[in-house]
Amino acid sequence: MKKHLWLAAALTLGMTAAFAQTGAKLKVFISVDMEGITGVVNWEEVSRTGKDYDYFRRIMTQETNAAIEGALAAGASEIVVRDSHGSARNILPDLLHRSAMLLRDWSGGPKSMMEGIDETFDAVLFVGYHAKAGTADALLEHTMTGTITDVSINGVSLPEAGINALIAGHYNVPVAFAAGDEALCQQLKGLLGTVETVAVKKGIGAAALNLHPEVSREKIRAGVEKALRNRSGFRPYKLSPPFTLVLKLKEETMVYNGQFYPGATRTGDWELTYKSADLMEVMKAFVGMRN
Ligand SMILES: [Zn+2]
Repeated sequence: MKKHLWLAAALTLGMTAAFAQTGAKLKVFISVDMEGITGVVNWEEVSRTGKDYDYFRRIMTQETNAAIEGALAAGASEIVVRDSHGSARNILPDLLHRSAMLLRDWSGGPKSMMEGIDETFDAVLFVGYHAKAGTADALLEHTMTGTITDVSINGVSLPEAGINALIAGHYNVPVAFAAGDEALCQQLKGLLGTVETVAVKKGIGAAALNLHPEVSREKIRAGVEKALRNRSGFRPYKLSPPFTLVLKLKEETMVYNGQFYPGATRTGDWELTYKSADLMEVMKAFVGMRN
């Protein structure tokens, strides 16, 4: 009798452990930029030396927490937050939700704003993201640096969100959610097709109509939960190899220096081209060609 009970208990425990392993694993990667945070409209607000920077880094941390809360509500078992703006040292560690690990600073590697991503993750979320250089009615729009006017891979012009979606796609991880301005949301939907988005502000030239930060947080929390519950509907973003990267720059010295990156060629007055069958080699070149 005792033996039977012990066996039954062992079976139950074993089954619970098995369910916990198969049913509950949901590893989430959150890349957080700052230009697309609620209220932000000016470079001063996202620059370390700017008077209102400390105020907006707090809002940035709170918007990240809203995404974490949404992920937890959807059953996230592990969450990594990658601070990916400027110094990559913006999010306030003690104000960040304790369920997440925080990745800070730049490694210098090709994953850049996606540092830390690998094939063990189940979904990627973007918070505080912005549209690519040259987008109309977009807040603080740019692509990586102020000197890049366009980045394309295989003829597809990409915002940072697109480049980072490709890096996630390389590891077979889909982008499920993005928060930022209206222009970013439209741009990313155009690229990925299916992605849950929350527009926290709408650009009117360089001005913006903003949600209240509290409303943004509610929408982000709900949007992330919805996205992760429906995560089977999102596909990793991929382009077909071989990859042709075309970089358009507006500084002659950068174009001149960039052509000396191994494998790079100058293909125009303001243009550099690099080809490879390996996406991560392309990402290395993308970093190397503008150094
Ligand atoms: Zn940024």
